[in-house]
Amino acid sequence: MSWTCHGSSNSSMVAALKRAGLIHNPEVEAAMLAVDRGLFVPPGQSPYQDSPQLLGFGATISAPHMHAACVELLRAQIKPGARVLDVGSGSGYLTLIFAHLANRGPGARVVGVEHIKELVDASHQSTAAIPWAQQMMRDDALRLLKGDGYAGFAEWAPFDAIHVGAAAPAVPPVLVDQLAPGGRLVVPVGPEGGPQQLVVLDKDMAGRVSTWNEMGVMYVPLTTEEAQRGKAALMAAFKKGPSPGDLDGCEMGRSRSPGR
Ligand code: SAH
Repeated sequence: MSWTCHGSSNSSMVAALKRAGLIHNPEVEAAMLAVDRGLFVPPGQSPYQDSPQLLGFGATISAPHMHAACVELLRAQIKPGARVLDVGSGSGYLTLIFAHLANRGPGARVVGVEHIKELVDASHQSTAAIPWAQQMMRDDALRLLKGDGYAGFAEWAPFDAIHVGAAAPAVPPVLVDQLAPGGRLVVPVGPEGGPQQLVVLDKDMAGRVSTWNEMGVMYVPLTTEEAQRGKAALMAAFKKGPSPGDLDGCEMGRSRSPGR
C-alpha cells in the first residue's frame, strides 16, 4: 500500500484517508473533520499532504495516515467520557482528535504531555481557534502540558487509552502502570533511526498484559529535553533538520507476535 492520502483541504485529506481504508469508523472521521490539521502545522508547509511536517525543536507532526492508524487502534478504548493520555503531544493535533472522541460523554479527561515549552505554547495557540476544545479546557476536561512523558500523568491516571508520539527504547513501565484495566497503549519502540515497531499493548480486566507489533514505523525519539534541544541546535548549525520524508513512514506488512 502506498501512502498518498493527500488533500487540498482538511476535508479532502480526510476523504482520501477514508477512500484508502485508513479511516473505518464514523466517529473517527467526525473527529478528524473537527480538528483542522492546517491549524497545527507551521506556516509555509503543506498541512494536508500525507507526510510529516517540521514543527521545529527536532519535532515533527506525524503524517495523516499514521494519525488515522493510531486513532483507529485506540478508538474502541476512547468511549464517550474516556480518559486519554497523549505523550509527546507536539503540535497538539492528535490530542485534540482524542479529545473530540472522548468528549462525546461526561467525565472525559484528555491530557497531552510535551517536554518542549515552545511547542506546548504553540499547541495552545492552535487550540484557541477551536471553540469546543476551548470549552473542554475551561471545564478542565482537556490539558496540554509541559512535562516529561516518561512520567505519564499520575493525576488523571488510570487511562483508558495512552498514545506515545515518539519512539521509546522499550515500552515505558510507568505508562503500563497508568493504563486502566481494559485499556490500550500504542507506542513506537526501537532505536533512533530504526528499526522501530508500533507496539500495541492491551491490559485485560484482570490486569494481564499482552502485546503485538502492528507495523514497522519511523518516529523521532522519546528522549530528554536537553538531548533534543542539543541535537536540534546542532542540526540547525548544519542547516539540516530531521527529514520529514524519513519519519513516520509505514512499512508494508504487519508482524503480529505469536500467541496473540
Ligand atoms: N503526535 C505529535 C508528535 C510530535 S513528534 C504530533 O503529531 O504533533 C514527538 C514529540 O515528542 C516531539 O514534540 C518531542 O518534543 C516530544 N518528546 C520527545 N521526548 C519526550 C519526553 N520525554 N516527554 C515529552 N515529550 C517528548
